[in-house]
Amino acid sequence: MWSIEDELAFREDLIAKVIAIANAGNGMLSRAELGRIEYAGKSVRVIDSYSGIWNPADAWPFPDQLRATLSINTTLKSKYSDKELGSGLWRYDYQSGSSDGKNRKMRIAMELQLPLLWFRQDESGQYVPYRVFVIEDFRDEQYCLVAPDLSLASAVYSESEIERRYAARLMKQRLHQPAFRARVLNAYQTKCAVCQLRHGQLLDAAHITPDSDETSSTSVTNGLSLCKIHHTAYDINIVGIDPNYVVHIREDVLHEVDGPMLEHGLKKMAGRQLWVPSKVQERPERDRLDMRFTQFLAG
Ligand SMILES: [Zn+2]
Repeated sequence: MWSIEDELAFREDLIAKVIAIANAGNGMLSRAELGRIEYAGKSVRVIDSYSGIWNPADAWPFPDQLRATLSINTTLKSKYSDKELGSGLWRYDYQSGSSDGKNRKMRIAMELQLPLLWFRQDESGQYVPYRVFVIEDFRDEQYCLVAPDLSLASAVYSESEIERRYAARLMKQRLHQPAFRARVLNAYQTKCAVCQLRHGQLLDAAHITPDSDETSSTSVTNGLSLCKIHHTAYDINIVGIDPNYVVHIREDVLHEVDGPMLEHGLKKMAGRQLWVPSKVQERPERDRLDMRFTQFLAG
């Protein structure tokens, strides 16, 4: 068996790899893909083939076994009551039956503060990966709490209300941002809506209008899949998008003369039709675009 330090290093590396593979595309992977992740020259299963808690054993391709659960997952049809709490922590229900069995290794992850993967199923059926920690265990009630970060999670129990609110807000962002990005990129087939660049690693999900409430700003219709350049340019009003899905470039930038990025990446985008999802209900809301476009014109 690995030393705890070696297991920690292995887990961090494998988790980062799984998240990077997902983010090279739309930020999600199918259950089948998660059953054969290419890692260190081996094919590694990182999700249970049907149930929630994955404690690799027999088919594990490495000589050393893991002490603790490698992954948990939440499906859309889950019979369990996994849900987000006001504190920003997430409740994950143990597999029913006994508090031992598979759940025992979840408690080891908590005691040793070992990170694990949490896969949350999106409406498309694919899973968004998260790196999480088990924070607290309610053995009698058969559930535990998970969080994306140990120090943020401890701030949830702070005596300072400001600290608690701050931690809750950051944790909500950490949970919602990957799901929002995945939903938007999936709707846009992993393409920039302005230039149609297809490199997942270079794409973001941009908000059309900022929403003060992080939880209600996760709708695809308030999102645009944009490459890094067009995302920043949109945020600072160099790029504008009108309610008829036409791309505009700020007037003074159109008169600038510079290298190929300015010429092709920005100036030539003026007047282009935005590339939008084929499903009407996933297209950007025209009212929101209009609100933003007014700001672009005023700027
Ligand atoms: Zn672009």
